[in-house]
Amino acid sequence: MDSVLEKIQNLKQKHKAVILAHNYQPGEIQDMADFTGDSLGLSIKASQTDAEVVVFCGVYFMAETAAILSPGKRVLLPEKLAGCPMADMITAEQLRDLKQKHPGALVVCYVNSPAEVKAESDYCCTSANAVDVVDSLPVEKKIIFVPDQYLGGHVAEKTSRDLVLWPGYCPTHVLISEDDIKNAKAQFPDAVVMTHPECTEPVRNISEQILSTGQMLKFIRHSDAKRFIVATEIGMIHALKRQNPNAEFIAASPKAVCPNMKKITLEKVLWALEDLPNAGSKYHVTVPDDIRKRAKKALDRMVEILPSQ
Ligand code: SF4
Repeated sequence: MDSVLEKIQNLKQKHKAVILAHNYQPGEIQDMADFTGDSLGLSIKASQTDAEVVVFCGVYFMAETAAILSPGKRVLLPEKLAGCPMADMITAEQLRDLKQKHPGALVVCYVNSPAEVKAESDYCCTSANAVDVVDSLPVEKKIIFVPDQYLGGHVAEKTSRDLVLWPGYCPTHVLISEDDIKNAKAQFPDAVVMTHPECTEPVRNISEQILSTGQMLKFIRHSDAKRFIVATEIGMIHALKRQNPNAEFIAASPKAVCPNMKKITLEKVLWALEDLPNAGSKYHVTVPDDIRKRAKKALDRMVEILPSQ
């Protein structure tokens, strides 16, 4: 009898599907995927393939982002209950209220947000390009940054701009404490601390490098260091080891586990593919066309000002 992995491969070919896995996914999902990476990078890659089906092993907003960029493809999320608590900390209505309080302000929205919130925004950004996006906007303009207060705080500091921040946060990244970094540093004094900008300010302040997941992978390629303390979701350690088998990676905190990212299993990927002939598949993620077009504009504007991203 075929194994789960063999069945996934067979159905993938039969349905012309491509499987994407975010860097925070369980190791066996990353190893089985066609592409691994961050949410926007994966959505862009999927849009450039001729696949008819995209299976996004990640959380809900990521599947929405893939659907925004690939309106002609069927996007599946193998576990519909895999949400992102940070993305869900702001609604389109709350953003509309905020815009009314700050008339004329430009809205920059982190890609970790619902499609409806992107549709209400002027620009999208990623954790890799948030500083550059804000830096490129006219200095006389007020800027609202949603939904992550910590990424927003990092951007405000780097750009010396006074941003209007929304009090959202990632419940996983805030579990990493200043003491975690100090303890890891005491144990491994030669290690370089790489911290994701979703971490709190005290953690960022004692870290050598503030990097998105994609930037971490690039940074290591050009670094002479052999040991790295990694302050982000723990799945990243697997992604780093896969590409850098000779380096050592130490998780800043074993508590930094995103329970939503870990809801995806190989069996659920198989079930989503098996359910494809079902027109009303519960795995299918769609974005209404009017919201999709407006959300895409915010993504397009980001690419226009930072074409190399
Ligand atoms: S790690 Fe944080 S930002 Fe990423 S999906 Fe989980 S809750 Fe959302």
